[in-house]
Amino acid sequence: MSDTDADIMGGLKMVLDQMRQAVLRRNKSLPQIEPRLVCVSKTKPTPMLIEAYEAGQRHFGENYANELNEKASSADILEKCKDIKWHFIGHLQTNKINKVLSCPGLFMVETIHSIKLAENINKQWPKFNIDERQLNVMVQINTSGEDAKNGVQPSEAANLTEYVIKNCQNLSLKGFMTIGQYGYDCSLGPNPDFICLAKCREDVCSQLGLNLSDMELSMGMSSDFEHAIELGATTVRVGSNIFGHRQPKI
Ligand SMILES: *Cc1c(COP(=O)(O)O)cnc(C)c1O
Repeated sequence: MSDTDADIMGGLKMVLDQMRQAVLRRNKSLPQIEPRLVCVSKTKPTPMLIEAYEAGQRHFGENYANELNEKASSADILEKCKDIKWHFIGHLQTNKINKVLSCPGLFMVETIHSIKLAENINKQWPKFNIDERQLNVMVQINTSGEDAKNGVQPSEAANLTEYVIKNCQNLSLKGFMTIGQYGYDCSLGPNPDFICLAKCREDVCSQLGLNLSDMELSMGMSSDFEHAIELGATTVRVGSNIFGHRQPKI
């Protein structure tokens, strides 16, 4: 299927439907937070995003700073998607912080992976923030232990979380995010990355005296977002099920 053939409205409707079904199957001991769909639009052209926006979608995710900046500042998006809410979900390098923070409509940075990054963003944010609100952030946790995946180790999660809460007045900590290993076969049982993220939330909340239902979990993509919701996801990041498959980056 080429980009222009994707049935965006149909895909969106199907994903939202599947999310509702998954909520009904969710473990009842978990906080019953209504999950939010973040539509991952990386590599996709702005007319496709606008189509999703016009079908009612508000939260969008990008994982390259330059691409996010170009899209968020494009005249089309500024004119037609006034209430868009951008999530940055990629690896954020220090030299790209301003590219991300200067984006109109930036809603959340989901990938805080070090004290240094938190400190930097906390320092820079007031320069870009016109209405003096705090920037929403999540702490990214490397649940799979793979070197290629970013995020703090689960054992470091409480430390980084505490740093953000105590020392970053311009940031508002909303929860935890993981990417996890790709292609996990759910027939083998619950995805260990999702279990690990939920467990991190429990541990960090009990260590720091935080309320479990105040902390979100961002986990699950096209292949496993329903499973993630069953295990407690409050944000799922779905791209290809809505926009069609991506060309691999060259
Ligand atoms: C690309 C991406 C997604 C979405 O992947 P799909 O398989 O297309 O749904 C989710 N999260 C992150 C961090 C991504 O980079």
